[in-house]
Amino acid sequence: MSLKKYQKKRDFARTPEPKGKLTKKEGPLIYVVQKHQARKLHYDFRLEAEGVLKSWAIPKGPSLNPKDKRLAVMVEDHPLEYMDFEDVIPEDEYGAGTVIVWDKGVYFPIKTPKNGLKTEVRESSQVVLDGIKKGELNFFLNGVKLKGNFVLIRIGKNDGKNWLLIKHRDKDAKEEDILKKDKSVISGKTIEQIEKQPL
Ligand code: MN
Repeated sequence: MSLKKYQKKRDFARTPEPKGKLTKKEGPLIYVVQKHQARKLHYDFRLEAEGVLKSWAIPKGPSLNPKDKRLAVMVEDHPLEYMDFEDVIPEDEYGAGTVIVWDKGVYFPIKTPKNGLKTEVRESSQVVLDGIKKGELNFFLNGVKLKGNFVLIRIGKNDGKNWLLIKHRDKDAKEEDILKKDKSVISGKTIEQIEKQPL
């Protein structure tokens, strides 16, 4: 694991984003979804594994509707400290624009052995790393807005950086547009409110 790419892209004298370091953290694995009004609006989906946040940018955002297959482009690992970041990234900096913590919670990677029986694996980053290598990552989210079983599947485009995020059919599947809930789960503020009044 390395944060070199993350750190190289940013000037920490200018951006309020954390410089970060590889961190050993106890307890259940955390996920976070940050709504990021950059040049183009997108949602950054991040899963904790081995002391970093494995990260995907989702242009259309996550969905609770199993019919939606949302493109998720894998981006550089982010530091764990990033999970609570919301603020304005100044103009001319990488990712310039406003970020809020749109959703946050714990997640459980799910290992699917050959016999097809699914086992919930708690606190196992290795399952996540194996899934990323394999191109299929199943997990259960327990956040404020997102809940239930999801899968990230790699599709063969863009150097293997393109994935799809899909909700599995389960009791948490819903047709409602979850993106309409547009406030931060940390500050209760919208993108527009943070933009007008940076922290
Ligand atoms: Mn972003």
